[in-house]
Amino acid sequence: MPEKVVIVGSGPAGWSAAIYAARANLDPVVVEGTIRTDVQMIPLGQLAFTTEVENYPGFPFGNIRAFVESAVDKDRHYNLPPIPDHPKEKRKRNSLDQIAPHYAVQGIELMELMKQQAINFETRIISDDVVDVDISSDVKKVMLRNGDPIEAHTIIIATGARANWLGLESEEKYKNKGVSACAVCDGALPVFYGKPLAVVGGGDSAVEEACYLANLKGAKKVYMIVRRDEFRASKIMADRAINHPKIEILWNSVVEEVVGDEETDLVSGLKLKSTKDNSISDLEVGGMFVAIGHTPNTDFLSGKLEMNDKGYLMWKVPFRTNTSADGVYAAGDVADDYYRQAITSAGTGCMAALDVERYLVDQGIE
Ligand SMILES: Cc1cc2nc3c(=O)[nH]c(=O)nc-3n(C[C@H](O)[C@H](O)[C@H](O)COP(=O)(O)OP(=O)(O)OC[C@H]3O[C@@H](n4cnc5c(N)ncnc54)[C@H](O)[C@@H]3O)c2cc1C
Repeated sequence: MPEKVVIVGSGPAGWSAAIYAARANLDPVVVEGTIRTDVQMIPLGQLAFTTEVENYPGFPFGNIRAFVESAVDKDRHYNLPPIPDHPKEKRKRNSLDQIAPHYAVQGIELMELMKQQAINFETRIISDDVVDVDISSDVKKVMLRNGDPIEAHTIIIATGARANWLGLESEEKYKNKGVSACAVCDGALPVFYGKPLAVVGGGDSAVEEACYLANLKGAKKVYMIVRRDEFRASKIMADRAINHPKIEILWNSVVEEVVGDEETDLVSGLKLKSTKDNSISDLEVGGMFVAIGHTPNTDFLSGKLEMNDKGYLMWKVPFRTNTSADGVYAAGDVADDYYRQAITSAGTGCMAALDVERYLVDQGIE
């Protein structure tokens, strides 16, 4: 018997789709992916790479670990990261006495909670990657890396996207210590408050990131590091950066090294190389935001589903998650190169499950 729905991917979109599908008695199977160092992908999705998540609704600062440990199966507690140790003055986000440990939910904690919620409604999980799909007929085939096929009436693709990085060793070292790929996610974290910051990139999204940071409360100065002597961004966006009083553009520059402070172990500056004469200069900043694009995880769907010019899946019906193939739906960052947030991914995961449910009813599949 074909499965009613197979969900590919284990980020916020995948687990939200699973929770909704499971509660609608669709007996979902989630193929959660594996650790793939070649493409920087891990089960639980992009949030598993980050520390505190301050903007996911429902998780204000608090004694999060106690809740997580009470909710998540004991045999996965080993996966929980250390509790952040904020200086007391930085912890104050409400009027309660600060009972340590007191912090915002961490990426892995949030994702383990989502996974648990899906498990609690009897979602089945396969720890493998999908390497191919055959969506040419009503009953579709999902091929796993281990060679096993799964037949299914519907598929939800929730494979996300991955940030492109510069590829420097020092960049890797200071990720979550002042290096980020998402201003909206991380810009308001205390570690960046009141410090000069750098945004690397010259496209529309780099300008958006720079303006976002420059407009934050406490913003001091934002440097844009641009490889060429002009923006790739559209004129209207470029003008926005050029005319912003807190943004300074450093043309013909690339980052050679991220420099850290030995005492705090946080980013304290960058070594920049001129693309004109190779000269090196120092820039004092407290954070570097890399904005050189994302790569959607759609390789295995090439030629099978309609994608935009950047390889993102296209939603073919307004306000629905339908892809170009009947019975195949897309949720989360894999179909969204604009918002790219955990909450929007969870939202479209829910939508995809509801779309699947209605499709199955229409097809008379129980
Ligand atoms: C460092 C960092 C910090 C962030 N901070 C925040 C934040 O504070 N707040 C916020 O809202 N957003 C944040 N984001 C963005 C947020 O993480 C993403 O928007 C969100 O995770 C997207 O969810 P998703 O479910 O679409 O996909 P993802 O989270 O990308 O998950 C996709 C999953 O699919 C799996 N997968 C991929 N291909 C396959 C395959 N072929 N077979 C099986 N599995 C596959 C991957 O391994 C991965 O586990 C951050 C992102 C990063 C990188």
